Amino acid sequence: MKRRIALLLSMLLLLCALACGTPKTDDGRPTVVCTIFPQYDFVRQIAGDRVNLVMLSKPGSEVHGFDPSLSEMSMILDCDLFVYVGGETDRWVDDLLSKNGSDLNAVALVDLVDTVDEELRPGMQGEAEEKPETDEHVWTSPKNAIRIVDGLADALCALLPDEADAMKANAAAYVKELESLDSDFQTVMAGAKRNTIVFAERFPFRYLCDELGLTYYAALPGCSSNEEVSLSTVSFLIERVREEKLPCVFTIEFSDGRIAQTIADATGCAVYELHSCHNVSRADFDAGVTYLDLMRNNLESLKKAVN
Ligand SMILES: [Zn+2]
Repeated sequence: MKRRIALLLSMLLLLCALACGTPKTDDGRPTVVCTIFPQYDFVRQIAGDRVNLVMLSKPGSEVHGFDPSLSEMSMILDCDLFVYVGGETDRWVDDLLSKNGSDLNAVALVDLVDTVDEELRPGMQGEAEEKPETDEHVWTSPKNAIRIVDGLADALCALLPDEADAMKANAAAYVKELESLDSDFQTVMAGAKRNTIVFAERFPFRYLCDELGLTYYAALPGCSSNEEVSLSTVSFLIERVREEKLPCVFTIEFSDGRIAQTIADATGCAVYELHSCHNVSRADFDAGVTYLDLMRNNLESLKKAVN
């Protein structure tokens, strides 16, 4: 009997979560749910407050290994447009869509650009996989960001046809800023003294490096691994900094920077940060920091690294 009551209770909770998960806006605006920061910011730039915009990952949180609650799942199934990345980190989305989402209006960033696989570079820790994972960090290249913004603008205009002209104008103005960012990256590389960087972390910047013709060495591929970095990998990176006479080693946002500091102590180089834009801190989120702000900071760090 107790088991039957418990079962009934959990079914009721599930029904309630499914029924009351989304705080429906009563102002008639469509709800757009974005898994992580880049597409949240892109939608914000295009649509402004024409949509009720939700970022699923909490600011400051680790986005890899995100596990949605029942109410978050029901919010996704209930929303008017769902924007996710579509890589290994989003395996849970594939599961959700295959079971419940046949008529969910969803856009995956990886479908808007040409993708490459994660790459195991010399010295990098990890084993070559028979079937390499798609590198999901498509937004780190400004050229990709432009294609993503164009794709999201199409989806938003289809959602709100009466607002299409205004949103197309917003998207066009924003694309101009991304083009200018892209051109500034290319200018830095055209005048660069070197084209090698060393990264003491996981490496989500393959699209940016490919686009800029940067050779990179990093501790770990992609973002999927939580491995401890081995001594031999750290030694390899130290050797690269010494041999190439690099002025700096890179660390990533939200890192304790321990490995980068070890490399800096051994070689006397500086430590700079490249921000992958996966997520922003609570303070940055509240201050309205944008993808362009973060990428402009990256541009300044890169300028110091290649000169
Ligand atoms: Zn990642």
